[in-house]
Amino acid sequence: MNDESKKEIKNKMDQLVKQLKQYEYEYYALEEPTVSDYEYDQLLNQLKKYENNFPEFIRFDSPTKRVGGFISEKFNKVKHKIPMLSLSNAFDENDLIKFDTDIKKELGISDIEYVVEPKIDGLSISLIYKNKFFYKAITRGDGLTGEDVTENVKTIRTIPLTIDYDGELEIRGEIFLDKESFQKINNDPNTVKKFANARNAASGSLRNLDTTVTANRNLKGFFYYVPENEKINLSKQFDILKWLDSQRILRSKDIVKCKDIFEVLDRVKYLTENRNNFDYDIDGIVIKVNNVSFYEELGYTSKFPKWAIAYKFPANVKESILKSIDVTVGRTGRINFIANIDPIELDGSVISKATLHNAEYIYEKDIRINDVVQIYKAGDIIPKILGSKLENRDENSIKWIKPTHCPSCNSLLKQFENEVDQYCINKNCHEKIIQQITHFCSRDAMNIDGVSESIIRKLYENNLIKDISDIYLLKDKKEEILSKDLLIKDKSFNNIIKAIEKSKQNSLEKLIFGLGIKHVGYTAARLLCRRFKTLQNIAQLTKDEIQEVAEIGDKMAESIIEWFSNSNNIELVAKLLSYSINMTYIDEYANVNVKDENLIFMNKSFVITGSFNDNRNTIKNILESVYHAKVSGTITKNTDYLITGKNATQSKVDKANTLKIKIVSEEFWK
Ligand code: NAD
Repeated sequence: MNDESKKEIKNKMDQLVKQLKQYEYEYYALEEPTVSDYEYDQLLNQLKKYENNFPEFIRFDSPTKRVGGFISEKFNKVKHKIPMLSLSNAFDENDLIKFDTDIKKELGISDIEYVVEPKIDGLSISLIYKNKFFYKAITRGDGLTGEDVTENVKTIRTIPLTIDYDGELEIRGEIFLDKESFQKINNDPNTVKKFANARNAASGSLRNLDTTVTANRNLKGFFYYVPENEKINLSKQFDILKWLDSQRILRSKDIVKCKDIFEVLDRVKYLTENRNNFDYDIDGIVIKVNNVSFYEELGYTSKFPKWAIAYKFPANVKESILKSIDVTVGRTGRINFIANIDPIELDGSVISKATLHNAEYIYEKDIRINDVVQIYKAGDIIPKILGSKLENRDENSIKWIKPTHCPSCNSLLKQFENEVDQYCINKNCHEKIIQQITHFCSRDAMNIDGVSESIIRKLYENNLIKDISDIYLLKDKKEEILSKDLLIKDKSFNNIIKAIEKSKQNSLEKLIFGLGIKHVGYTAARLLCRRFKTLQNIAQLTKDEIQEVAEIGDKMAESIIEWFSNSNNIELVAKLLSYSINMTYIDEYANVNVKDENLIFMNKSFVITGSFNDNRNTIKNILESVYHAKVSGTITKNTDYLITGKNATQSKVDKANTLKIKIVSEEFWK
């Protein structure tokens, strides 16, 4: 193999690592996966294959070597006494037979008993009991260090606060939401953001600073592992599970003991066929050696034990016919590909459209019109096309041809180096402009109520607006608008104008986000504004200065500089300024003055308990924004202050007293 091809392989491997890490971030930190677990696992497998063949290119931070996870700054960090590992994966019978063969070879024995357990789709938790009492609960985090979620776990009523064991004992398991409770949360009108699946909802509910949220979510825990089993004098996994029963620690009742791998295979088949019939989501089956005394001999990798394996279910995949592919252009000019399919029911909803990633994807998979295509839900929400069933292809299939020109303005599309997406780079492209204005008016941006995409389209097509800034001239076009057949009536026109005028007072971050600078999302916009205060300041920053905001990386900084050096954008900003749009960051908490006597609270660590006149989030925001303080849910020796409101939790007050932590009264800044 020549140097050139080796370089290509290394690039491919680096790209896979980058992609997988992005998916892990979305899954563990944002709790908003954008691809299905199956898709993630397929990519991870691709990387594993490359790593086997080219070990010289294995990166130390490869997701094949590390337990994926995320530790939020919101919680105190706790180091695990024994690492909390992941599990290696099996995708078919052959993988399970190999698992059995490897174990027998390693131990030099021919009879191995297994325990087969449903793989609960929740998040791992470690409970620590000390001298009979529940003491601490820690998430898996990155496997070595987790988050202290003791106060949250205490609200889960099915987890006993005492067990019959003197000394310290760790018990591990999974926190999850059953299907009914998950539906209840997502159907609750108070749930602002819907969760993609029960696992994300469980994680979001457990890792919440407000323990009343955790308490109201009906979380459950199933437990399956006692790492220091010798402490309870048991050496078989199945007996340990029974011991958990004796302690009223819940576990799945669908766990069986199998005398050999063939019984395991039968059970796997049964559970696979019945995977949808559980009250809770399962994403696979865990197979463990029953005899725990073999565990040390079988050993561990840095990522998983060798005495257990997770058989993963594939995503639910359905078939349909691909009727056509719609090509559209978005506000950044990126070209999107949407498949129109014969409607089918998938995971509880009827779907007739699915995403195709980009033209390269369609080509690579040779997806053609009239093909039978396989569809699944990515991250259990957005349907995607997995590929065509080539064996079903007939003479009706029509080869699809990649567009070369924009579907809206017909200008030549561009594909940037190292990017798979195609872009329309015509700044006058009508559709792009309509999408940009729609984004500008959207809720997280300027929040202009009543100005929907369809209204913007009509206004644009009738030459009533040409760009973002024209929104602010609409108030002078009432007669013209009402005289045209735009389905805008007198009352709704007045409401729209009211909303437009109100948006002029928005804090700067909404404007920055609304301008649609590539890579700059709402959070980044807010961080930028909080630090640099005015648009004028931001427009003049150097790349290094922008990157003083820790969350802003290279690409985003470059994009900001580029945006502000473009003459059209400078003109746009000047117009907005002339229409009196606010270009300053408005600190919601500016009126909260730091009184001299309160200066001592700056940069300290707080825990809040009880109820207050303001809601808890407001108090937290004030502490963080005004006092630059840290707020956590649990009292530790590092806590500086406990703020107590009405009905404060007595155990917190007691703990604060024991640790000699100062207790301050309700909303001391008032
Ligand atoms: P894993 O889900 O493959 O398995 C390990 C975990 O299974 C354990 O840590 C434990 O918490 C859990 N588990 C449930 N029931 C169990 C039982 N009875 N016995 C033992 N353990 C049990 O591994 P992971 O490291 O938690 O997560 C990696 C997986 O998460 C990936 O394989 C993928 O499926 C998914 N993931 C998806 C995305 C995405 O974007 N969709 C991103 C990252 C990870």
